[in-house]
Amino acid sequence: MLGAIINLLYPAICRVCSKKLDEFDRNICASCAKKLKERLPPFCLRCGRQLKGDTELKAICADCKNDTPHFDRAWSACHYEGVLKDLIHDFKYKKITSLSKDFASLIINFMKKYDIGKESQIILSVPMHPDKLFKREIDHADILARAIGKGLGIAYSGNALKKIKNTPPQSKLKREDRIKNLRSSFSLKNSSLASGRNILLVDDLFTTGSTVNECAMLLKNSGAGRIEVITLARGDSIQ
Ligand SMILES: [Zn+2]
Ligand SMILES: [Zn+2]
Repeated sequence: MLGAIINLLYPAICRVCSKKLDEFDRNICASCAKKLKERLPPFCLRCGRQLKGDTELKAICADCKNDTPHFDRAWSACHYEGVLKDLIHDFKYKKITSLSKDFASLIINFMKKYDIGKESQIILSVPMHPDKLFKREIDHADILARAIGKGLGIAYSGNALKKIKNTPPQSKLKREDRIKNLRSSFSLKNSSLASGRNILLVDDLFTTGSTVNECAMLLKNSGAGRIEVITLARGDSIQ
């Protein structure tokens, strides 16, 4: 009711096509949401890379064969391109935090389609170093994970993972340097939190997977059960 009144007074507008929206707390209309490029199977059974071939194909990509990730399974809902790139930029840098609801519903729909996180007992987000948070002012992964937790009815353990080393951006480094860069850069506030639990780890982007992999290693070393990673987007090429 209150939402309807707010929407009447201050109609929400789609950030992509500028059409009026029915829901006051949304940023993307249904037709623009459909234009975001969803990732399609076959996926690598480990890291979720989109593979060439038949959708029935059950395969593991070359990277995962060479170096098995610490997480059990990673998934990304959309391709990191086009309009979505701009929307993620608005979310992270223009601080349009209400986009988390649009993103969370995209992710949740994707999760339901592939039975992702069915066994997850807690949700964690990939943390940001306090110095970086001070500069950025918002922790986008935390906001996204909170919205997903609310939508799925799974407890979100905010701030359980900590970034203790302020590392240079991963995107500027080579693969070996990425792994070195992240070594011992995370800590877990309370190791009993992960012990024996199946975890859903949330981030906005999956680039090489080194960051989520480092977090997954720490969680597994703390006794975590199954670790599934869900991200909004991934910008890989199809293999
Ligand atoms: Zn639109
Ligand atoms: Zn893979």
